[in-house]
Amino acid sequence: RLDTRTVRDYIRTIVDFPHEGILFRDVTTLFADARGFRMAVDQLLTPYAGEPIDKVIGLEARGFILGGAVAHQLSVGFVPIRKKGKLPGSVISQAYALEYGEAVMEMHDDALRPGDRVLIVDDLLATGGTAVAGISLCERLGARIVGCTFVIELPELGGRKALESLGHEVNALTA
Ligand code: 5GP
Repeated sequence: RLDTRTVRDYIRTIVDFPHEGILFRDVTTLFADARGFRMAVDQLLTPYAGEPIDKVIGLEARGFILGGAVAHQLSVGFVPIRKKGKLPGSVISQAYALEYGEAVMEMHDDALRPGDRVLIVDDLLATGGTAVAGISLCERLGARIVGCTFVIELPELGGRKALESLGHEVNALTA
């Protein structure tokens, strides 16, 4: 029988995680399925066919799982952007707003070279705060953003608008 499941069919929603009132999109069920995972990785790359990409940038933590697979597919290197205090070498830091308070993302200061063309990868785009912080770290090292690619976007939270208003292309596989 023909399997007609799409990427969205492999994602489950967990009610009241991590707090009451939150509907958490759980992508572990997507990652655990061979067909689902391959479909997702392929579709993350669909808009960039034929475009030169020098590095894939993954945002902690699920962006590492997807970004690693995307980088392997492209035969290019992978660069992690991590929460403050996790990277061992010399870093640059970028603060960004959370729903309550602020957080800091970091990247090794020698991870990119001026003119590098990079693709930003994460599992989910909500307000866009995390991705905007990641973009600004890459741009501070002189890299050029080819696109930002996500499995899920939550359109009502405005992340696409935030990225597009900064001139960045957004790809999302499902809402
Ligand atoms: P933003 O910065 O766009 O508001 O939030 C996106 C970040 O929060 C991403 O790194 C994403 O992994 C995480 N995130 C927020 N909500 C969810 C969710 O419901 N499911 C998953 N898998 N990640 C989420």
